Amino acid sequence: MAEGKIVKALSGFYYVKEGQTVYQCRGRGVFRKKNVTPLVGDYVVFQAENEQEGYLLEIKERKNELVRPPIANVDQGILVFSAVEPDFSPILLDRFLVLVESKDIMPIIVITKMDLLDETTKEQLEQYVQDYRHIGYNVIKTSIKTSDGIKELLPLLDGKVSVFAGQSGVGKSSLLNAIRPELQLKTGAISHHLGRGKHTTRHVELIEIGNGLVADTPGFSSLEFIDIEAADLNLYFPEMVKWSEGCKFRGCQHINEPKCAVKEAVQAGDIPVYRYEHYLQFYEEIKDRKPRF
Ligand code: GDP
Ligand code: ZN
Repeated sequence: MAEGKIVKALSGFYYVKEGQTVYQCRGRGVFRKKNVTPLVGDYVVFQAENEQEGYLLEIKERKNELVRPPIANVDQGILVFSAVEPDFSPILLDRFLVLVESKDIMPIIVITKMDLLDETTKEQLEQYVQDYRHIGYNVIKTSIKTSDGIKELLPLLDGKVSVFAGQSGVGKSSLLNAIRPELQLKTGAISHHLGRGKHTTRHVELIEIGNGLVADTPGFSSLEFIDIEAADLNLYFPEMVKWSEGCKFRGCQHINEPKCAVKEAVQAGDIPVYRYEHYLQFYEEIKDRKPRF
């Protein structure tokens, strides 16, 4: 018996990496009975039959799991946003941040295409960068034209499983190619893996980049707050968590409650107004959600 990590799932086989060896493993039906499907990213116990093949025996408990792409135990979400083309969207970023926070995934915000900014848009963007850094987020500004920020990214992947996320066209493939040129991803290509339509059996693979593992398909293609309760939403805004210590009521939602330290912080400019507005908007969205069975 040995332990390893599933790095690829394809046509009913699970490719389990133990040290530098990858074993092609079968699932053996035990999981179907228990109603769990092994996922890429799973830590597993397996039995090797020879130096290349084996079968799975056990799936270790997961820290988290994503549906799109189907992957478990994600440590980091590299949230890729372009400064322009498409324009930087703080509401979309906040959506990604909430989803990532709710799954206990460490976000890293990467802003691409910095070379395309003019003076006015640059000033505006720098304000956002400052705001998000103030919350405590790691924000990296990059450009594949000037190579800015590229070197900073590689060491952040060390020893972690990372998923890149972001709209198509923001520069995810370009970024990965710049980090590791031997990958030679066709720019614009990885988004086609998203599996809308004809790709029914989705293929996911963790690829080695530097000393880390990166999912080869971008994550979080579904941006609905399906698993999130309205009452928990504030927990995924770290600056609210910090300020809420001063709220009069325990479990304050920072909406209609009196003596709310979060609302006071918004008024005082300590929490950006747009962050709070996005919170209210997401809150309504979750409240309006149809009950799911
Ligand atoms: P993806 O869909 O997120 O993988 O985006 P791509 O990597 O395919 O990039 C979309 C387009 O943006 C391509 O034409 C890239 O050349 C361009 N692009 C990506 N990063 C940068 C950048 O830092 N600066 C500039 N000027 N263009 C970029
Ligand atoms: Zn409050």
